[in-house]
Amino acid sequence: MIHEILPVGVLACNCSIFGDEQTREAMVVDPGDDIADILAILARHGLTVKAIVITHAHIDHIGGAQQLKQATGAPVYMNLNDTALQKMLDIQAQWLGMKPVKPVDIDAPAKDGDRLSVGVTAFHVLHTPGHTQGSISLWIPSEVKLVAGDTLFRDSIGRTDLPGGDGRKILRSIHEKLLPLAEETVVIPGHGEATTIGREKRFNPFLQGL
Ligand SMILES: [Zn+2]
Repeated sequence: MIHEILPVGVLACNCSIFGDEQTREAMVVDPGDDIADILAILARHGLTVKAIVITHAHIDHIGGAQQLKQATGAPVYMNLNDTALQKMLDIQAQWLGMKPVKPVDIDAPAKDGDRLSVGVTAFHVLHTPGHTQGSISLWIPSEVKLVAGDTLFRDSIGRTDLPGGDGRKILRSIHEKLLPLAEETVVIPGHGEATTIGREKRFNPFLQGL
């Protein structure tokens, strides 16, 4: 399947664009900003967006969602435990000294156990709270990939000091939902370099001795 990763916005949020080569259907995960660049990638591959998925409602991940939705007509999926954060994007913009963004209308909940599809490829929603209450990860078994949002990073885990964060919950989410995945699973974090489940099991300093 087509998979492009584009770091967007001032915080370089990893936006993923997945596309099916046969049906030309696409899913965009975390369109935080730079929507013109995302649309250019979609056009280059001849893709039509069927779903916009938000891993969590921090502005660097969700900030461009409404603009992408207006440009494509695709529904926006988000876990509803992040509704409070989603409704305070103006305050989040102030925290970060960013320009205000369009409020985002959510069309469908992304709940633990839900499956979304792009062509023949299934995307499993894993609810992984801790960085925020509504944080989700997307597991794509046939691609041996995981889009982890800000839950798991190469050598680190998501911060839990922002409103809605919970340090014990994020560790529980990682241990119960992410580390059981196959070691060769490629992890695309919300920021920075990709890694694998096996590498983080062995070397991530936040996951040792637990
Ligand atoms: Zn975040």
